[in-house]
Amino acid sequence: MSKKYNPYDNFINVLEQAATEINLAQNDYETIKYPERELKVSIPVEMDDGSVRVFEGYRVQHSTLRGPGKGGIRYHQDVNIDEVKALAAWMTFKCAVVNIPYGGAKGGVTVDPKTLSSNELKRLTRRYTAMILPLIGPEKDIPAPDVGTNAQVMDWIMDTYSIMRGYTIPGVVTGKHIAIGGSLGRAEATGRGVMIITAEMLSKIGINPKECKVAVQGLGNVGGISAKLLSEIGCCITAISNVSGGLYCKTGLDVNEILTFLQTHSISEYKKEGVTHITNDELLVSECDVLVPAALENQITVNIAKELKARLIVEGANGPTTVDADAILQKRGIIVVPDILANAGGVVVSYCEWVQNLQSLNWDENDVNITLKRVMKRAFDAVYDVYIKKNIPMRLAAYIVALERLCVSRDLRGIFP
Ligand code: GLU
Repeated sequence: MSKKYNPYDNFINVLEQAATEINLAQNDYETIKYPERELKVSIPVEMDDGSVRVFEGYRVQHSTLRGPGKGGIRYHQDVNIDEVKALAAWMTFKCAVVNIPYGGAKGGVTVDPKTLSSNELKRLTRRYTAMILPLIGPEKDIPAPDVGTNAQVMDWIMDTYSIMRGYTIPGVVTGKHIAIGGSLGRAEATGRGVMIITAEMLSKIGINPKECKVAVQGLGNVGGISAKLLSEIGCCITAISNVSGGLYCKTGLDVNEILTFLQTHSISEYKKEGVTHITNDELLVSECDVLVPAALENQITVNIAKELKARLIVEGANGPTTVDADAILQKRGIIVVPDILANAGGVVVSYCEWVQNLQSLNWDENDVNITLKRVMKRAFDAVYDVYIKKNIPMRLAAYIVALERLCVSRDLRGIFP
């Protein structure tokens, strides 16, 4: 009971279940259990008041078997090496499940970015980039935004890397502003992917989106856009939340109005007839058909899993469900569309951005969205097929699809020397 939650153990646990399910010998997947490279860096920053603070940062490359490392950079006060390792491994499986030619990597800095000024954040980002410079590059490892980072942070990474190399290299990082090589559609891509996958799954289980109640935890780049796009296809968004708290309305919330309101106000100030204020835990167990956890990992715990009312969970966040909670959801017959499939839209459009950068092209937004839909649908079909044929949880099905692709690559490449 008192065992400390370790997300990397979560990863290994699911990996081993998937390997057992397809009768892999230990040798076949042994290499995939270990990250290829882990770099820990100290990042000294001169603060605005003249003092010096040293932050801790990481970049982990879990696998480069199928292509360069790919994965975001997280700025959050709880970042630690086990979390970054797990996030890197999930990227390997995410890129393999959507079949794009990348491995998996992740970076992070233990810092609450909200406590820094813009100039401090810029200096932190530039020094962190300089410290991980030997690892990254358009052919080696390509960072992107994650929790606590955004297009501006990516722009600074691109600039720092380019200045240190002596020429402009947009393809070193994805999720940049459009003006300096970002892709149209990238900012909405993760939420759009969540919407596409939710719509696919609803059609399989025979629920009309127009008769579907959805609760979304998280109002950031993933949760906010997921809620907006799900309401556009007719879903009734009954609950939404951010770190400070949530809102509930049985007959549906006005998502666009709330997103605009939150640009200048806090969630606790929102008032409307029929809308009640709830906590994040209350949101997770609220009356709905679909639950989209789109905040941080480790949100759906055993107690929440026992209580929640949704028939379908679509994981917008990385790792929101603990292993023990997963077992309870399975027993209760609640379908979980796993993170490595559900939130892969972001990295799919990162791939589109990188391809555009390498070729010095600019695609239309429509072309990006068409590609995203095609890739997501193809991945969904592959996972759904294994899920039905093997009658196993969808998470395991997704891991199997990814693991089989990783094993093919490993077999073809062999182990050096
Ligand atoms: N941080 C996002 C993820 O977890 C995006 C990664 C990327 O685009 O490389 O999938």
